[in-house]
Amino acid sequence: MHEQHPIVAQRFQDLHPPFQAQAAVIEANRCLNCFDAPCTAACPTHIDVPKFIKKIASGNLTGSAHAILDANVLGASCSRVCPVAVLCEGACVMHGYNEQPIEIGRLQRFAMDAFHARGGKLPRKSSSSQAGKVACIGAGPASLACAAELAQRGFSVTVFDRNLLPGGLNTYGVAEYKLPAHASLREIELIAELGVDMRYDTEIDAEMLEYLEREYDFLFLGVGLGATHTLAIPGGDHPGILDALAFIAAYKTAKITSVNGRVVVVGAGNTAIDAANAACRLGAEQVSIVYRRTAATMSAFAFEYEHAKQEGVHFLWQSLPVRVLADGGLLEFLQCVRVNDALEPVAGSEFDLACDLIIPAIGQSPLLELLDSARGVTLDRGRVVIDRKTGQTANPKYFAGGDCVNGGREVVDAVADGKRAALAMTSRLEAAHV
Ligand code: SF4
Repeated sequence: MHEQHPIVAQRFQDLHPPFQAQAAVIEANRCLNCFDAPCTAACPTHIDVPKFIKKIASGNLTGSAHAILDANVLGASCSRVCPVAVLCEGACVMHGYNEQPIEIGRLQRFAMDAFHARGGKLPRKSSSSQAGKVACIGAGPASLACAAELAQRGFSVTVFDRNLLPGGLNTYGVAEYKLPAHASLREIELIAELGVDMRYDTEIDAEMLEYLEREYDFLFLGVGLGATHTLAIPGGDHPGILDALAFIAAYKTAKITSVNGRVVVVGAGNTAIDAANAACRLGAEQVSIVYRRTAATMSAFAFEYEHAKQEGVHFLWQSLPVRVLADGGLLEFLQCVRVNDALEPVAGSEFDLACDLIIPAIGQSPLLELLDSARGVTLDRGRVVIDRKTGQTANPKYFAGGDCVNGGREVVDAVADGKRAALAMTSRLEAAHV
């Protein structure tokens, strides 16, 4: 089990501390148990929110966890990383009564933490094994959800991942104060206990795909996005520049435990905010976010923006990096220019931003390398094209879900995709083996 480094543990304490038991019951009793609950409709995995909350109120925490897991096998990590303000809690009827919405995310975490603390196991949906073998490529949330659903139904599943640890962005890419790596791995252990064969440190190339196509009934592609975009400006390849996902993975695996000096993060999405907040917590003297557009058009959620300001992150709007200046191996300045609403440079507005570390967080390239036309899987601008009802690709042997399909949405969306594909594969496998 991956252990949290003491410095990381100290500096990345929970953003939303867990409920104490009494407070959880009080909060659960506020829920109106709405009929046709809008919170459930707003959840991409359609967790029966009033059902699991009611079970917390009655003290049945195992039943509550089962209600969550029935819809979302990654209910523990989703309880910590979901943007609940724009999903379930955003839809809560309490808003209409000028009351605080029910704290669904924290209640879900309360039930799932109790379930894990008691050594809970994932329930099986079939008592016997079924004919059918599926390979899931990538061990991120979409693949894990697909693998768990199939294994719960008795199918044979193998998960392949290039990393040494499973979980994809849940383990390597989510800010530690939201989801520590050990919490992600604990959840995945339960999926492995269903009998899923987990194979890490495994690269999938064209030869391997051919082998998998021969050996397995179906393949699920949950491979995420490709490489992070680099800074395409003079000096943008300086070794002192570390992309945001690599930076987050480095501190989550304790390869980085402190940051000195001035940090400039380029970009204003949720990953940029996570990286900037992490740099603050790791001791950076000053952390700035440089973004070419305005606060109104940033892709980060508003609550993430507010959080970053509280952490001490400084924002430079309508500023475009144009050059990296360095003295040998040491970064010195990120040269920027102000731009107008049309992103045109404003004459005479150049300025130098002193920096010791630059972290680009400007999105990931679409997936290109793994799939080529020979596989018969259609791509559109680097994203896998699927049938929305089943998750099946143009090649009926392949299903897909998660970021490689949607371009990078929430963990809960990836879980919903993985489950959808698993259910479609189940129907096909059952029909083929009657
Ligand atoms: Fe409870 Fe709010 Fe969901 Fe209604 S909408 S069931 S009050 S959490």
